[in-house]
Amino acid sequence: MKTIKEIYRIGNGPSSSHTMGPKKAAEMFLSRHPEAKRFKVTLYGSLAATGKGHLTDTAINNVLEPYAPVEIVWQPKVFLPFHPNAMTFAAYNEKDKLTESWTVYSIGGGALAEKDKEQIESPSDEIYSMSKMSEILCWCERSGKSYWEYVKECEGEDIWDYLATVWQTMKDAIERGLEQEGVLPGPLNLRRKAATYHIRATGYKESLRSRGLVFSYALAVSEENASGGRIVTAPTCGSCGVVPAVLYHLKKSRDFSDTRILRALATAGLIGNIVKNNASISGAEVGCQGEVGVACAMASAAANQLFGGSAAQIEYAAEMGLEHHLGMTCDPVCGLVQIPCIERNAYAAARALDANIYSSFTDGTHRVSFDKVVEVMKQTGHDLPSLYKETGEGGLAKDYQQM
Ligand code: SF4
Repeated sequence: MKTIKEIYRIGNGPSSSHTMGPKKAAEMFLSRHPEAKRFKVTLYGSLAATGKGHLTDTAINNVLEPYAPVEIVWQPKVFLPFHPNAMTFAAYNEKDKLTESWTVYSIGGGALAEKDKEQIESPSDEIYSMSKMSEILCWCERSGKSYWEYVKECEGEDIWDYLATVWQTMKDAIERGLEQEGVLPGPLNLRRKAATYHIRATGYKESLRSRGLVFSYALAVSEENASGGRIVTAPTCGSCGVVPAVLYHLKKSRDFSDTRILRALATAGLIGNIVKNNASISGAEVGCQGEVGVACAMASAAANQLFGGSAAQIEYAAEMGLEHHLGMTCDPVCGLVQIPCIERNAYAAARALDANIYSSFTDGTHRVSFDKVVEVMKQTGHDLPSLYKETGEGGLAKDYQQM
């Protein structure tokens, strides 16, 4: 597996696959054709179906338009075989002759791939020799070490500086989001809720306050994402509220040190990495179970580690976080990362805290392993009809169109 830095990418929302990935692809193509007289960009499949709501065209135009005119062609019914989020960049010279046509895929979490190359931008090395949870769990039990120590051994000491930047960006997003009021961009005219949830939560006693606060933190980050704010993918933009909400809540309520929060982030990143390596974290490929479901698994493991869980209990918490999101579809209304995405982050943050408690009541022994759930998630995702995979045509998205 590659570095967990690819799970935690810092950038602007609202979508890692629809804005971060296409923006990076546009930058790469521009660097090869700075003299082009015009560009044509064809968006296929899910990228075209929900691209307008996700601001894909804006992300591409912002990069290319300062250099040459851009024509965007939308092909939502055409799915290229390699991945549902496909785009073809074409550059033309002064004689209007095609100089290059480049097809590239936004495979989730901001990463790019070509058909014959697994990942193309800033290719990083395979630094983890083990990629299955069962192997890493055995390593932990044999060595007496924890998951975060495995991350440290594979990544090196400089991972802590990177995770410190990640943590700071997450905290900034929460604190900014809690201050913002008003309506989110887009035709839904959806009001931000984080500030209201936060102030109301503080009026309740212990248990309701705790739940209300964690909701407010997740809403704050997801609302920042929906308005194009700076966030960290964890593992994607659409699911970026879950991990920060849980960690910020535990930091505030239990006074965990930053050092321990960074170790929890390391373990959460490892969980996301295992899923990315063995299945997918792309809503267009496997539905929302791969985005919010994985975020919940990451946050569940992080919380369990903070409360002193054993390697087996942490694995169980992660498994619970993902298992109970199996089958969850991706059906963003109007193609925006707002309904159901924002509330879904708040629910998943609360579920992660429950998964932590549930696992803490056990000795970590359980039937369905995390690896098995990852396998099932992948198969379930492939079995889902494409209208439930970020095309904006099924589920809630369809109902809204009929209203
Ligand atoms: S429904 Fe889930 S997978 Fe789909 S855009 Fe929203 S957060 Fe992402």
